[in-house]
Amino acid sequence: MKFGTKVIHAGIEPDPTSGAVMTPIYQTSTYVQAEPGVHKGYEYARTQNPTRSALEANLAALENGKTAICYASGLAAMDAILKLLESGDEVISVNDLYGGSYRLMTTVYKQFGIKSKFVDLSDAKVLEKHISKKTKLIWVETPTNPMLNIVDIKAVCAIAKAHGIMVCVDNTFASPYLQTPIDLGADLVLHSATKYLGGHSDVVHGCVISNDEELGQRLRFIQNAAGGVPGPQDCFLVLRGIKTLHLRVERACKNAKKVAKFLVAHPKVGRVNYPGFKDHPGHKIAKAQMRDFGAMVSFDLKKDSYSDAKKVLSNTNFFLLAESLGGVESLIGHPASMTHASIPKKERLKVGLTDSLIRLSVGVEDVDDLIQDLEQALANL
Ligand SMILES: *Cc1c(COP(=O)(O)O)cnc(C)c1O
Repeated sequence: MKFGTKVIHAGIEPDPTSGAVMTPIYQTSTYVQAEPGVHKGYEYARTQNPTRSALEANLAALENGKTAICYASGLAAMDAILKLLESGDEVISVNDLYGGSYRLMTTVYKQFGIKSKFVDLSDAKVLEKHISKKTKLIWVETPTNPMLNIVDIKAVCAIAKAHGIMVCVDNTFASPYLQTPIDLGADLVLHSATKYLGGHSDVVHGCVISNDEELGQRLRFIQNAAGGVPGPQDCFLVLRGIKTLHLRVERACKNAKKVAKFLVAHPKVGRVNYPGFKDHPGHKIAKAQMRDFGAMVSFDLKKDSYSDAKKVLSNTNFFLLAESLGGVESLIGHPASMTHASIPKKERLKVGLTDSLIRLSVGVEDVDDLIQDLEQALANL
């Protein structure tokens, strides 16, 4: 089955009781049993729910994995993965990763004796230097947030495999339409389904896809034991969002390419970070491991001033000033004061995260309107 068919059909059967084409929202907490222990496969809704099961089957197919497990948010999904570890274990992670993932590792799991190291993995070979006997998990995000650096998934997985270390790729920024890390050797793939999978900025949701039945079963046990499950309506919204994933991401990528080209040519704009440019240091790898270059673009201003950035951020009409990404609507954000405010300025500047850096999540609107919107906001400078 090709991707555009999978998003609509994989794992999804018309409802057996009514023939409903769309998977119903099974809003129930429990299921009747004919006699003790005799039931239709469903006992209690923390453990199983048919709306969630349909979504999980669909997600496993999209990521070419064996098992998919859904959670109440992307961070709840990450929390479940970290629960696979034990006190004394170490995690090696990319250094410019999602702020909430950084927080979970460095606060909550630190107190349980799990150590995290943050490393620039844009050259995968440096990984060897950081691996120790205690390393149990490698955490990759690509493209990274907000600098849009690219990590070579295949190279990282090859090194990890040689040491028997598990690799998880947070595939939120790319979506399975653009990139399927399991095909490149990853053991686990995580999504904040709040972003591209849901796609309509109307739900918070997360999932983990595993390439290994046993690993999937351990995660399934943790899902039931710890209980961070999503409600059936949230699963329905993600299922519905996924049906147009390929159309939305395809259009958003096209728009992002045009927006990035416009920005590069603008006299007030400094550096534009977009992996689709030939001179982007990760361009070749992105081209090899992604089907297109994504719809996230970040840029700073020639005059690196927060107040100038603020003028741009407050003057767009279609680009809404908000956290998050991956919805049909375009969003604009300021990492230094929003998503990455907790990182000291010196650390931020080291990775190029300047005061004037602006992050765009390019949506699926008409691109002419989007470019005109940025043009008039930049004209205020
Ligand atoms: C948003 C996001 C998360 C966290 O997901 P939630 O659904 O907000 O919990 C994790 N990783 C990345 C890359 C994200 O963008």
